[in-house]
Amino acid sequence: MYFVTVTKRQACAWCGGPIEIAAGAGRPRQYCRRSCRQRDFEARKRARELGLAESDLIVARRAIEGLDDLLFVLGCAIADVEGDIALDRSPEQLQRSLDWLLGSARPLLGASERLRGAS
Ligand SMILES: [Zn+2]
Repeated sequence: MYFVTVTKRQACAWCGGPIEIAAGAGRPRQYCRRSCRQRDFEARKRARELGLAESDLIVARRAIEGLDDLLFVLGCAIADVEGDIALDRSPEQLQRSLDWLLGSARPLLGASERLRGAS
């Protein structure tokens, strides 16, 4: 029998990246690096100045439209794949469907980072 130690991974409050948890450290860290803490601090300050709630997020229109396009493409691919595999569940078709789905979903990688980078 194997026992696997799962280290609880903390996500950075700004970029969502993993935070290394130092053993024996006191208060858990909220950010993966100083620049993230600084950017979050500045964003909160700016939000207060604008009278926004902390949960409000301002992003560039171009960034949100880009994300919307990617989600639309992914939605179309899901519909395509559902239709295709309803008719044919052969390994070849499943492989094609998976490739199609992954190809449509892959551009979303890094989209979150671009959104934050644009704010
Ligand atoms: Zn971070």
